Amino acid sequence: MKIAVYPGSFDPITLGHLNIIKRAAVCFDRLVVCVMVNSGKDGGLFTPDERVELIHRVVDRLPNVEVDRSSGLLSDYCRRRKACAVVKGLRAVSDYEKEVQMALINRKLNPRLETMFLPSSAKYTYLSSSVVKEMAFYGSDLSDFVPREIIGDVNEKMRQRREG
Ligand code: ADP
Repeated sequence: MKIAVYPGSFDPITLGHLNIIKRAAVCFDRLVVCVMVNSGKDGGLFTPDERVELIHRVVDRLPNVEVDRSSGLLSDYCRRRKACAVVKGLRAVSDYEKEVQMALINRKLNPRLETMFLPSSAKYTYLSSSVVKEMAFYGSDLSDFVPREIIGDVNEKMRQRREG
């Protein structure tokens, strides 16, 4: 069984992430979307458990997609899950430099682990979780940015943040 891991902060999951998930899921027997908790990006909008719950809701109908979280090293997690590949989405050249460095480090730590890059679909190249948070903060319509199942959650969380 070919298992791949798609790691990220997913704070929150966007339509760009979902596009990568759907495209990667057809290439592997199982795709594990893993919320990485120790990535240095602290002070997120959603807690790791909330992010997992939102992703669950969005991938509910994709039968070979699983959701998990990890606070350890990605290469250790992949070894434990017997994953053969890490999937990464590439939006721009700026993603490339950082991601290739990470891929080389991960292969050094776990020589049987490959990193597979999927180019972002053109219509999502501009999209990141940070853009979503910025838009939500100013009350923009989020329907072009995040899956509809979670729009209410993002708006509500931002309202709490604004008022708290
Ligand atoms: P963000 O930069 O949105 O905070 P994450 O850390 O959650 O992203 O990203 C997880 C993975 O998803 C990374 O491989 C990232 O390059 C990829 N990704 C993020 N947004 C997009 C997008 N719009 N299109 C394709 N890949 C993306």
